Amino acid sequence: MQASVGSGLPGFAVTGNPDPSVREARDRVRAAVKNSGFKFPDLKVTVALSPADMPKVGSGFDLSMAVAILAATEQVSSEKLTSTIFLGELGLDGNVRPIPGVLPAVIAARQAGYRRAVVPIETVAEATLVEGVDVGGASSLKEVAAWLAGDLVLDNFQRTPPTKPPPIPDMADVVGQHEARHALEIAAAGAHHVLMTGSPGIGKTMLARRLPGILPPLGIEDSLEVTAIHSLVGELSPGRPLITEPPFVAPHHSSSTTALLGGGTGFARPGAVSKAHRGVLFLDECAEMSAKVLESLREPLEDGEVRVPRRDGVASYPARFQLILAANPCPCAPAHDVDCVCTAVVRRRYLGKLSGPLLDRVDIRVRMDPPGNAALMSGTGESSAEVRARVTAARAAAVERWSEFGWRTNAEVPGAALRQKFRLPPDVLRPIELFLRDGRVTARGADRALRLAWTLSDLRGTDQPVEDDVAQALLYRDRGATW
Ligand SMILES: [Zn+2]
Repeated sequence: MQASVGSGLPGFAVTGNPDPSVREARDRVRAAVKNSGFKFPDLKVTVALSPADMPKVGSGFDLSMAVAILAATEQVSSEKLTSTIFLGELGLDGNVRPIPGVLPAVIAARQAGYRRAVVPIETVAEATLVEGVDVGGASSLKEVAAWLAGDLVLDNFQRTPPTKPPPIPDMADVVGQHEARHALEIAAAGAHHVLMTGSPGIGKTMLARRLPGILPPLGIEDSLEVTAIHSLVGELSPGRPLITEPPFVAPHHSSSTTALLGGGTGFARPGAVSKAHRGVLFLDECAEMSAKVLESLREPLEDGEVRVPRRDGVASYPARFQLILAANPCPCAPAHDVDCVCTAVVRRRYLGKLSGPLLDRVDIRVRMDPPGNAALMSGTGESSAEVRARVTAARAAAVERWSEFGWRTNAEVPGAALRQKFRLPPDVLRPIELFLRDGRVTARGADRALRLAWTLSDLRGTDQPVEDDVAQALLYRDRGATW
């Protein structure tokens, strides 16, 4: 950021590929400078945003423009400017207002060699998550000027008291549904995508909401990555800046492709798939979603990231999430299956929309039935903490096995690797050979069963699957695949 003040017609120009919203900043900056008791030069002012080839969007550059102008006109000392990044929107009165995306901006600034950041006071907590950068929080341009003059120390502690994250609902609340619970545990252990079908009110949403509580908490790197995305969409709580639990994101079935993948005019906003990064994307009533929207999930499912078009190119956001699809078995969706009034053709067509490339990525399909009286009598099941301990151990085993190949979970392992390099002995594979010969499973289905078998083995704490794991994996798929 550079400002020059020189002769010529009085005016204020911004160069360096600014977004229209940055050009609007001129009026705010001019007013803020004057209303903070400084002179706005009666000369030609040019502010160059650098580097010029980077898109500049939003109002976050107001503060740095104002500081650059004050320094160029020698109204403040420029001594501290070189290694400091200034972030914040300015109000007409000279107050500094919070902006989204402070965390990723400070991370980028550190990579560019900055050692100090002055940010809106409301965002101090997220900025201080970045190690190696001194953070100061400011609430007005006046304060920033006083800091530059050495007359004031900027606070770097959060004024908002820390809040506790809302508790993730616990698995202990779920009555019955042993099969679905077990399916969710396997899904968590191997990061497998899941399709749950069952009548409305059977508990599909209740179970899905409990998945983050049995997934391992996020490591520090993942926490920062996830927090950065939520900072960009402006959804961080000031009292609880760092996201340490896997996020749960549940867009409505009427959501647009833009809401799901990201985009929008001007700033390309991350969508649901990125907000669910390293967490859970839950699509309830997924058979009601448009085929185009469902199809759009293929890219993030394959690549773990999503490319979002924007005014001057493409933005790329991480989007490695665990997908939980839930659907009613048919359009009439009765509470009890026997009351269904749909024809067989309608029933088949309803879920048929989900078939093909999307379902190829879904390793687990589970059909939920109303709990019987016995299950209701037996009360509640294990707590999330107990399940999470097993899941965490299983995930650690998978990381140890696959990390040299760049995979972190069983679900990421390509079918070819399971069939060749990590081929299991013939006696272990026998159930799959039988199913393939009888046409009871397709080649892709066989790959999915192999992935699940590795996860079952990891959950048992053994080195590699045995025949029974493979047989169980096949049954797990088979039972759900009755449509
Ligand atoms: Zn029906």
